[in-house]
Amino acid sequence: MGFDSIYGQHLLKKALQRSLAKGETGHAYLFSGSPGSGKRTLALLFSQALNCRENAPPCGECLSCRKSVSGNHPDLFRLVPQGASLKIEQIRDIKESLHYLPVEGQHKVCIMEDADLLTLPAANSLLKILEEPPSHLVFILLTARPWALLPTVLSRCSHFTLKPLQPQEMTALLEREGKHTEKQDLLFLLSGGNPGQALALVREEDWREKFVEARNLLNTVQLGSADGIFPLAEELSTRSDLSDLLEIVLVVCRDRLMHTLQGCAEAVILEEERENLHTKDLNDQNKLTLFYEKICNALLQLQAELRGNVNKRLALEVLFLQMRGVI
Ligand SMILES: [Zn+2]
Repeated sequence: MGFDSIYGQHLLKKALQRSLAKGETGHAYLFSGSPGSGKRTLALLFSQALNCRENAPPCGECLSCRKSVSGNHPDLFRLVPQGASLKIEQIRDIKESLHYLPVEGQHKVCIMEDADLLTLPAANSLLKILEEPPSHLVFILLTARPWALLPTVLSRCSHFTLKPLQPQEMTALLEREGKHTEKQDLLFLLSGGNPGQALALVREEDWREKFVEARNLLNTVQLGSADGIFPLAEELSTRSDLSDLLEIVLVVCRDRLMHTLQGCAEAVILEEERENLHTKDLNDQNKLTLFYEKICNALLQLQAELRGNVNKRLALEVLFLQMRGVI
């Protein structure tokens, strides 16, 4: 166990380990990264390490570490949103106990999930603690949207961003989890190097089929009959997994875009995808680049609109017309 159990994030882990070794930890940390990037795992390990007295903490075996892992450590607090937000009552409820000295460890640690969902009064209440924290208190805030936090809260935190894994790190992770797959390159592409998403994908037996469906959708819209896109938009608009499907279409388009950018080392285009790049009327490299850039932007915009109250069928029709290069 310990920090070695997290793949990647070398600089981040080194910085935390250095401050632990020197006994110079701060009072507020912010770990940001997309869902599945490993923020919570890292926060739990760091909270263990803050109260573990063994060499190279966290050892994962001492009583303190085991209590943290099982959620029974009296000095470890966790705040999760109640409904759609983190409320001032939640901060008030723990404020007093955070000020008391630790019961067993050296630190009281409070892990706050989805810190971007703090209401304004809750954020101001948190700020009051962060402005004059008791010496034993450490807050670890987690968020996928650091820009949504109050600047005054952000400025009080040591901010660390979790990075996507490298392909070899992803391979090592999958092997450790017993999830080896022949389609590592495809899995890496779909997960974008996000460990949580990759593991979630391999747990689904039909993850490869979902990719094939997304690719076929793109090809059907681009190369199939023009009349077919309207019933297709209608059919897809009723799908509950529409957003997931469009996310994979976006991955495919982004990969095709990367491939069309000459000399781009990041392109991880699949062999089977190459033939799809030579669509009719779009053989010109620059045209293709501009085309896929436009489609990627359109997909991102549609994903944002789908989170609101949009007419899905009409929005899909517009997207499909853009995919065909009509508008
Ligand atoms: Zn320990």
